[in-house]
Amino acid sequence: MTAILSNLQAIHQAIEQAAKAAQRESASVHLLAVSKTFPAEVVREAYAAGQRAFGESYVQEAVDKINALHDLPLEWHFIGPIQSNKTRDIAANFSWVHGVDRLKIAQRLSEQRPADLPPLNICLQVNVSGEASKSGIAPAEAEALAREVVQLPKLKLRGLMAIPAPSDDFEQQRLPFAQLREMLQALDHEGIKLDTLSMGMSHDFVAAIKEGATIVRVGTAIFGDRDYEGK
Ligand SMILES: *Cc1c(COP(=O)(O)O)cnc(C)c1O
Repeated sequence: MTAILSNLQAIHQAIEQAAKAAQRESASVHLLAVSKTFPAEVVREAYAAGQRAFGESYVQEAVDKINALHDLPLEWHFIGPIQSNKTRDIAANFSWVHGVDRLKIAQRLSEQRPADLPPLNICLQVNVSGEASKSGIAPAEAEALAREVVQLPKLKLRGLMAIPAPSDDFEQQRLPFAQLREMLQALDHEGIKLDTLSMGMSHDFVAAIKEGATIVRVGTAIFGDRDYEGK
């Protein structure tokens, strides 16, 4: 058995256990395999092990990989920071974009989404409490941005995404994920019905599932440590 196959099996087991502990259906949790920095052959191996959805953070690397793997029915998610000069490539090559935090970017993605493709699935990135990075909207801005994004014709607003600061403590890990879940519930009360919470990575996906994650973004636990040499 290859390492990728056994890693994927272990993660599916952990997802199932975490869903069960949270009294959730394990089918409501989708595994996004984060393949950034890994070559196309590695993605091919994960595909052979049954994985279909892959996450990428660097546009040029991703487009090269997507082209090299065009023979496979894969679903590509862009999860990195979005520069406005890269929106055309993102709109043309991906099914999902998780890190939208500005209306300007959303407008460009909608305008540049090719007419023959279905609407691009969007998650708004929220800067939840304790987050180290500067990307993501403040929680108070989420409703206003969501109201704008739902009107863009070639986008489909699906939910919220966050990258909390890492913690080794399970209860600490839960707090920002609970905050994101509560934000999704608040939007629901305002009539904005979304179905996606993109939260949880290799070190904290169990806590994220406990708080309602529907997409966990897992890289290292599937593919091993990344080598950023040359990135
Ligand atoms: C790289 C990355 C991941 C995967 O992180 P791991 O710790 O390797 O599981 C998940 N989400 C985002 C946004 C990332 O950039």
